[in-house]
Amino acid sequence: MAKLIDGKAVAAEIRAKIALEVAELIHHGVTPGLAVVIVGDDPASRTYVNNKKKACEQAGIYSEEYALPATASQNEIMDLVAKLNAKKDINGILVQSPLPDGLNEEAVVEAIDPEKDVDAFLPSNVGRIMIGNHHFLPCTPAGIIELLRSENIEIEGKDCVVIGRSNIVGKPMAMLLLHNNGTVTICHSKTKNLKEVCRRADILVAAVGKPKFVTADMVKPGAVVIDVGMDRDENGKLCGDVDFANVAKTASYITPVPGGVGPMTIAMLLRNTVAAAKRQSGMAKP
Ligand code: NAP
Repeated sequence: MAKLIDGKAVAAEIRAKIALEVAELIHHGVTPGLAVVIVGDDPASRTYVNNKKKACEQAGIYSEEYALPATASQNEIMDLVAKLNAKKDINGILVQSPLPDGLNEEAVVEAIDPEKDVDAFLPSNVGRIMIGNHHFLPCTPAGIIELLRSENIEIEGKDCVVIGRSNIVGKPMAMLLLHNNGTVTICHSKTKNLKEVCRRADILVAAVGKPKFVTADMVKPGAVVIDVGMDRDENGKLCGDVDFANVAKTASYITPVPGGVGPMTIAMLLRNTVAAAKRQSGMAKP
C-alpha cells in the first residue's frame, strides 16, 4: 500500500515558516501585501479566493480583495490592474482564473507588473523559469517539488511523466522536474500508447482534469503518483485525476485529493508574495 504524501501537513509547516519570515519582515518595516482580483460569481473561484485570503491573514500577510461583477468590462479590469501595479503596499497581484466569457484573460495577466506576478504566469517570468533564473516559481508545480522533497524522493535520473501540458501546470511542472535532473516526458490528448508511456514513470504527475483518469494498469509498481486534479466524481464528490483506491495499492507514494497538491499551491503563493515583497524592498539576496 502506498504511503500518503500529506500535503496539508507539509503546507502547514511551510506556512508556519513563512509566518515567522513575515514577522521578521514586518519588524524591518516591510509588510508583504497581496491583492486578489475576482470577477463574477463562480463558486469555486470564490472558495479559492477565500482560502487564499485566510492563508494570508494567518501568515501575517496584508491582503486586499477586489470583487468585480461578471458584467465588468475589459477596461475596468485593466484599469484596476494598473492601479494595483502602482500601489506601494501591494507586492503581489493575483487575478483569479477563469474570468467570465468575453474577457481577455491573457491581456489582463500580461498587464500585471512582472515584479508583482506571484502566479508566475507572465511570459517574462515563464521565460525566466525556462532558463532556470526565476524570480517566482509557478505555485502548483513548485508545491509538487516541495512535496517530493518532504519525502526525500529523488528526482535526479528518474523517469518522470507529466500528463497534461497546460501553461499553469503541465508545462512548468515538466520544466521544474527537468531542472531537478529528471528525464521528463509530457503527455497530452494526442499521445499514443498513453498507458505504456505512463508505465515507464518512476514519478507520474496527473494534471488532466478528468476524474479517476489514471488507473492502476497505467502505473508501474512502486511509482510515485502525484494527483493535481480537482474533479467531481459521479456523485459530485471532490476527487482527483487518479483512481486513488486502486492506484494506492500499487504505487509507493501517492497524494490524496483533497489534502495533497491543493494546500501546497496556496503555501507557494504566500512564499511568492514574501519573495516579491523582499525584491521590491531591496531585501532579496542578489
Ligand atoms: P487543462 O488546461 O484543461 O489541461 C488538461 C491537459 O490534459 C491538457 O494538456 C490535455 O491535453 C490533457 N488531456 C486531456 N485529456 C487527455 C487524455 N485523454 N489523455 C492525455 N491527456 C489528456 O487543465 P489544467 O489547468 O492543467 O488542470 C488540470 C487539473 O488540475 C484540473 O482538474 C484542475 O482543476 C487541477 N488543478 C489543480 C490545482 C491545485 O492546486 N490542486 C491547480 C491547478 C489545476 P491537450 O493539451 O492535448 O488538450
